[in-house]
Amino acid sequence: MLKRITEHDIDRTRVSEKAVAVIDKLRRAGFDAYLVGGCVRDLLLGKMPKDFDVATDATPEDVRDVFPRVRLVGRRFRIVHVRMGREIIEVSTFRRPVSDEEDHGPHLSDDGMILRDNLYGTIDQDAFRRDFTVNALYYDPDADVVLDYCEGMKDIASRTLRLIGEPKIRFQEDPVRILRAIRFAAKLDLELHPDTEAAVAPMCEMLNAIPPARLFDEFTKLFLTGHGERAFELLCEHDLVEILFPLPPHGEALATLALASTDQRLKVNKPVTPGFLIAAFLWQAYLDRLERTATTAPDQSDDPASTVIAAQQSTISIPRRHGWFVRDVWHLQPLLADRTSRNVARVLAHRRFRAAYDFLMIRCATGDAPEELGDWWTNAQTQNTDSLLRELPGGPRRRRRRRGRNRRNRVPANMNAANGGPNMPQEAAQP
Ligand code: ATP
Ligand code: MG
Repeated sequence: MLKRITEHDIDRTRVSEKAVAVIDKLRRAGFDAYLVGGCVRDLLLGKMPKDFDVATDATPEDVRDVFPRVRLVGRRFRIVHVRMGREIIEVSTFRRPVSDEEDHGPHLSDDGMILRDNLYGTIDQDAFRRDFTVNALYYDPDADVVLDYCEGMKDIASRTLRLIGEPKIRFQEDPVRILRAIRFAAKLDLELHPDTEAAVAPMCEMLNAIPPARLFDEFTKLFLTGHGERAFELLCEHDLVEILFPLPPHGEALATLALASTDQRLKVNKPVTPGFLIAAFLWQAYLDRLERTATTAPDQSDDPASTVIAAQQSTISIPRRHGWFVRDVWHLQPLLADRTSRNVARVLAHRRFRAAYDFLMIRCATGDAPEELGDWWTNAQTQNTDSLLRELPGGPRRRRRRRGRNRRNRVPANMNAANGGPNMPQEAAQP
């Protein structure tokens, strides 16, 4: 069953010398060690790996004895981070699949999900507990040989992403593998094997059982690593978006543009944030909520933004700071439509202005806000805003003084798509 492949396309100059040093040192100490997983897959596909993982028969304690600078990490299973200069090499001990009868109970939940997979095993067992065949290849840098236990090389050659074993069971054991499938297909331009693809629909409901914090991690890997637009397209094709963002209806066009913009920024090394994407994914739900609050309970003090964000937390957790980012971006949208000189200065000085402006631009591109408004703010960042304000129809507008008890909660009556946004509470923006 094991194939030792000596003819392969791994470019040795792309292999981290630090990872090779870790392997050498483990071997000199009497252990077995290989490069494994994403790095081997990426090398074989001609891509530059983003990090290097090592698999070994040494236990975490053994690894700690061999290296002076290590950190034991991981809750589900323990991994050792070996620091080599500025690189961190992840070293994990061979583990076996959770499949034997005796493993049920402590290791598998009633509905077949893996609770713990910390059982040590041999290298061939380690290969079979991995998710996809292309992720289960081991590379021996000394001998320049690839070890293939699961027909991974065949799938590399045909650019196929195929679950190891019975697809339904493998998705059941860990439904996050469904999202990993989408992610690898998008990132590496791989085709899902028909058997793997066929198991997505029957198993996808199980994603509801995944802890929201883990889904947030997966969300960032799906959408904030440079191939988000394609990942979203694949999620749509497989009807998976509803499971992640259960607040209907959600504007696909806006999400796609936000993802394209994020992918583009990553390409040129600009910073990106999950908040921008969350703001786009939930914008439609927010508008709906806002409208409902305005018609059914206009005096209610509940903030629709908080309600929408809180509802999302039950599926994908949104860390607090990103929640604030989303609120700021949303709350600034009606303020961007209010071009009075006082407000313009206030908005330009807001620490989230740039994000809110970027968000307005994608709204303009989908027809959710007038293009003229986007152009105006584009100019406002480089030109004198007083002269821009004078050019607006109706001439210079003075700040209107608003007084009265309810000022903080007042919803401007005329904020509709024609002037930049729907009814939204103004008080919420935080200059
Ligand atoms: P990336 O380039 O995104 O890091 P990767 O394949 O290295 O891709 P990791 O999440 O770093 O992905 O996982 C490393 C390896 O561990 C995988 O290649 C796979 O062999 C195994 N693995 C990770 N997650 C799972 C999982 N949920 N089920 C089974 N095997 C997994
Ligand atoms: Mg990895």
